[in-house]
Amino acid sequence: MNTRPWENLYVHVPFCAGKCDYCAFYSEPDSSLADAWFEKLAEDAARHASGALPLKTVYFGGGTPTLLPPDRLERLFSMLEKHFRFAGDAEVSMECNPESLTPEKAKVMSGFVNRVSMGVQSFDEEKRRLIGRRGDVRKVESALEMLRNAGMENIGMDLIYELPAQTLREWRGELEKAVSFGIRHLSAYSLSIEEDTPLAKRFRENGSEELGAEMGELAVRFLAEYGLERYEISNYARPGFECRHNWDVWHGGTYLGLGPSACSFDGRVRWTEVSPVQSWLAGAPPETDEIPEEKRLAEIWVMGLRMVRGWKKGEFDALTGIDPEEHWYKELEHLAAEGFLASLSGRIALSERGLAFWNDAAAEFF
Ligand code: SF4
Repeated sequence: MNTRPWENLYVHVPFCAGKCDYCAFYSEPDSSLADAWFEKLAEDAARHASGALPLKTVYFGGGTPTLLPPDRLERLFSMLEKHFRFAGDAEVSMECNPESLTPEKAKVMSGFVNRVSMGVQSFDEEKRRLIGRRGDVRKVESALEMLRNAGMENIGMDLIYELPAQTLREWRGELEKAVSFGIRHLSAYSLSIEEDTPLAKRFRENGSEELGAEMGELAVRFLAEYGLERYEISNYARPGFECRHNWDVWHGGTYLGLGPSACSFDGRVRWTEVSPVQSWLAGAPPETDEIPEEKRLAEIWVMGLRMVRGWKKGEFDALTGIDPEEHWYKELEHLAAEGFLASLSGRIALSERGLAFWNDAAAEFF
């Protein structure tokens, strides 16, 4: 496995209007250090830019990128344009919290961003209160209007299921509401995935695994009827609107992460910038994930297996020089015997069952 130039860029905007109870991401509940964050981000971008190919994708995550005022967004975009080159068809995604968006911000975004992922999580006010989700869900409609008025149509949403006391019927109602907005992408995560939060732990103890599985199955069936096909364990899209940034990252693509807590991968080594923002500003070095090559290969392999399409034959070999069918012959044979592999010609991919138990399937390779 060799070091390769950067193909994708991730920018972490670590500021939020407050902290949601279930949140396991690194974010600060105030933006008083936004100026200092921007200056350091620009220095890091200048330092790393020469090692980048024309970028295939850029992803602004957080935190709440849309909390930045319009002039700061404009400076951020022009700073990146100054340092990096972009592929002609580059995908530029930004996470957006509806309540922080304004028509001016939407206009500035439309000059650089071509894909928006709206953090909704739930349309149910009571459920939002129970999980400590901040913000006003009534703003979703007006935020969509702002984005569309600014000419942005490639819009997706994030929802969480297995919320406290949520029924299957209520979850269906959430999905119905989301598709009524004509979205092109949907991420649906179970609350129990956010393992580092007290809320998720408490709820997992009380929740029913069976109901969680039924909710996942309902999402697959219901969303397919609306043209949103499942392409990854938790992600659904209209054909051609899959998130290319994640797609590439999940298939061993290189990515440069800028900002506190951002991860980078150069084809061989992965490292994570430190958090909180104060340590990052003080120049604390990133934490390098030093693992043996065999483990890195397995990591890339199993991440690709999160995708419904899995790996095309020859794809993993071209990236790593390893033929997975030879290298993991026994493991693949065992997965097939367990019914975890799909029978697709020209591909190695997990079956429905394999996707449902991805953790178990992945463990085979370590
Ligand atoms: S808005 Fe998002 S990043 Fe910020 S605290 Fe809430 S869940 Fe976390």
